Amino acid sequence: MKIHNFSAGPSILPKEVIHQAAEAVKELDNSGLSLIEISHRSSAFISIMDEACALALKLTGLENKGYKSIFVQGGASLQFLMTAYNFLNRKAGYINTGTWSEKAIKEAKLFGEVQELASSKEANYNFIPKGYKIPNDLDYLHLTSNNTIFGTQIKKIPETKVPLVADMSSDIFSRKFDYSKFDCFYAGAQKNMGPAGTTLVIIKEEILNKISNTVPSMLSYKIQAEKDSMFNTPPVFAVYTSMLNMRWVESKGGIEKLGEHNMHKAKLLYGEIDRNSKFVGFTAKEDRSDMNATFNLVNQSDTEAFDGLCNAAGISGLKGHRSVGGYRASMYNALPIESVDVLVECMKSLEKNK
Ligand SMILES: *Cc1c(COP(=O)(O)O)cnc(C)c1O
Repeated sequence: MKIHNFSAGPSILPKEVIHQAAEAVKELDNSGLSLIEISHRSSAFISIMDEACALALKLTGLENKGYKSIFVQGGASLQFLMTAYNFLNRKAGYINTGTWSEKAIKEAKLFGEVQELASSKEANYNFIPKGYKIPNDLDYLHLTSNNTIFGTQIKKIPETKVPLVADMSSDIFSRKFDYSKFDCFYAGAQKNMGPAGTTLVIIKEEILNKISNTVPSMLSYKIQAEKDSMFNTPPVFAVYTSMLNMRWVESKGGIEKLGEHNMHKAKLLYGEIDRNSKFVGFTAKEDRSDMNATFNLVNQSDTEAFDGLCNAAGISGLKGHRSVGGYRASMYNALPIESVDVLVECMKSLEKNK
């Protein structure tokens, strides 16, 4: 049976990317060796890393615009502290839009003063705060572009003169977006880029050169950048597979084309959530994420029937996060629109059958 993978992360990757990655584990480009048994200092792997770094800048429209891309380990969670360790001298501003922002705030507090400029915590993070004041004397302002758990997404980047830092783990490469407004952004691979094990960080060189904090080598953006992501052994499989996926994104017309496709998928599902009397959406409509749609049944007594329909249709990974409940449909780049069609059909069947 065909499985429709709505998992929030680790999550769906294009079938051809998984196939190519599997082939490379067996043998990399007719070299007689596996991807995972060659030196990371070999010319073969250096060119893989170079291509991955170049593609990340190309896809985000930042090629030749004074940015550096690096691949590090420790997940997006390590970036919560790396951003603060490197950039926080005195005071930073944070917008609290959910679990991941909260965790970023907690780490940053170890390094300096943190001002929570806005929060939607009171409403269990079902909207994105807007219209907050941003002081001019912050070292940076930190945002979470897409809130994977709650299903909200920032649509308009706030105007400010202070450096902007963002966690883009769950919507990197998913939409047309002005990445040049950011001074530093990061994404753990396992949502929309590749397998778990690596994190993409893109930093403006201007801010990179200005870092004055004393930072341990492994956590230093300067050192990781100077060493071209090879300060120590990089996670070769995760970087290689991410590179394959970035090639795939480019072959599909880049983030603009995929963004249109993603919007289409999201419209289809949200349209059904709003139309169908059995379901209700979780978040404010104007802040709905194109990547993670959160919704619930109006009557919890329909749970068994709906779960049964979904299981029979091959739908996987639809369970909502425990802090929201209900359902969450993650519709990353690789999820075909046919999978959304199948989910919508299940929702319609539930309505008809009862
Ligand atoms: C999943 C996720 C994280 C955590 O990523 P790890 O790689 O597990 O540390 C952080 N931020 C966002 C927005 C996420 O979706």
